[in-house]
Amino acid sequence: AADMRSSYIARRITPVENFPQPGIRFRDITPALQDARALRNSIDLFAERYENVGITQIVAIEARGFIFSAALADRLGVGLTLIRKPGKLPREVFSTSYMLEYGDDVLELHKDGLKVRDKVIIMDDMLATGGTMSAAVELVRKTPAQIYEAAFVCELLYLNGRKALDSIGVNSFAICS
Ligand code: AMP
Repeated sequence: AADMRSSYIARRITPVENFPQPGIRFRDITPALQDARALRNSIDLFAERYENVGITQIVAIEARGFIFSAALADRLGVGLTLIRKPGKLPREVFSTSYMLEYGDDVLELHKDGLKVRDKVIIMDDMLATGGTMSAAVELVRKTPAQIYEAAFVCELLYLNGRKALDSIGVNSFAICS
């Protein structure tokens, strides 16, 4: 049954050529969000995997990671910790910069955001090169929290993102072609 649900989600992630620039094949998750069954399936699959492993916080990466993380946190009855783009979090933050295809970017996490007994998953919608998730892992490692694994709705296999994340576990439900 898990396979039926993940392929249902995968079919609703829509490739768009040459967006946001020439040569990029963008995977649009908005049809999967608009489809109530696909959205429910994705949260069901995450919840089944994480409900009995002692997770205390879902760490969510801005912006599309927020969507699935908020729904999952509510389902699991745990809190939500935000990793944001620079200048959004109002108190003291840990910052890390990471490389993108063009230039670099920064992610931030409140310094007091995670505690010693926290056991977290870090969530984003999609694993591409793994650069974004690696930066998020670096941030969480500045706190005393334990990372259970990184979680994605889907992954692009050919970019080898799992290799960039070989120090932590990686889970995704769908392969984006
Ligand atoms: P990366 O850091 O390369 O693993 O990229 C991950 C982040 O960029 C995720 O937040 C994705 O949502 C977004 N992303 C990267 N490549 C794509 C793509 N081809 N289509 C849609 N989103 C992408």
